Amino acid sequence: TTTELELVNVSASWDEGIGELFEKIKQENKANGQPNCDASLFFTNLYITPVLKNISLYLEKGKMLAVAGSTGSGKSSLLMMILGELVPSEGKIRHSGRISFSPQTPWIMPGTIRDAILFGLTYDEYRYTSVIKACQLEEDFALLPEKDKTLLVEGGVTLSGGQRARLGLARAVYKDADLYLLDAPFTHLDIVTEKEIFEKCVCKLMASKTRIVVTSKLEHLKRADKILLLHNGDCYFYGTFSELQAQRPDFSSLLLGMEAYDNINAERRSSILTETLRRVSVDE
Ligand code: ADP
Repeated sequence: TTTELELVNVSASWDEGIGELFEKIKQENKANGQPNCDASLFFTNLYITPVLKNISLYLEKGKMLAVAGSTGSGKSSLLMMILGELVPSEGKIRHSGRISFSPQTPWIMPGTIRDAILFGLTYDEYRYTSVIKACQLEEDFALLPEKDKTLLVEGGVTLSGGQRARLGLARAVYKDADLYLLDAPFTHLDIVTEKEIFEKCVCKLMASKTRIVVTSKLEHLKRADKILLLHNGDCYFYGTFSELQAQRPDFSSLLLGMEAYDNINAERRSSILTETLRRVSVDE
């Protein structure tokens, strides 16, 4: 096997945005006749707080990495960094080939549902049908008068949160790439659909693909080849599920002890995970 993605001691900050914010606050303070130095001190502290700190990982071809962590811990930022949108301030990042990215909220342009999935790529019936089936969109299309030729947005149907999420996933999976980045693809799905799509799409259809999935579900962490747990931009854990149980026993037993954890909705799960990570990192 070969390595598809490698991160070595990578740190990054969203300093550009904060720089702009700093300028804005400075201007506002000037306008209010407040001394400049207060804002500079405040923002100097913010400026040097990276969103990702010293992250290392590698992912072999065809493997799955699950990224979990507290809210605001840098999961999306990590994907942005792999996409090249966030430039590391330190460390090395290495990958080659094409990336397909599924954002938390997919952008839907006016046009047919099929166009929204193809997203400019040519229609391949076999590929399209297998993706549609794996993302459970077939059932939705069957209910529409013009099936997947139904118009979206302007004068057309509006999609539910779950439909939108599955459409976004289908779009990302339809694209042929070397590395797939799926940012919380199950957020708006019910437990049963989430389970089925994880199985059929992420595990089966994408079995030979190199994948990074942002998720909070234990079942997904167990099935992934590697797990990265982030807390406040730090790597709280990186390794396999059994290594997680061995190296982070407190964290593991807290979550594994909660029988219902995997069966509550993704938003509640996120806050439980955040609380749990806070608790264990304070205890350590
Ligand atoms: P998570 O996905 O784990 O919830 P994020 O990566 O979205 O965490 O956010 C981590 C931090 O980075 C937050 O403080 C957030 O405000 C900031 N952030 C995320 N995306 C951007 C962006 N595009 N520009 C500036 N700051 C960002």
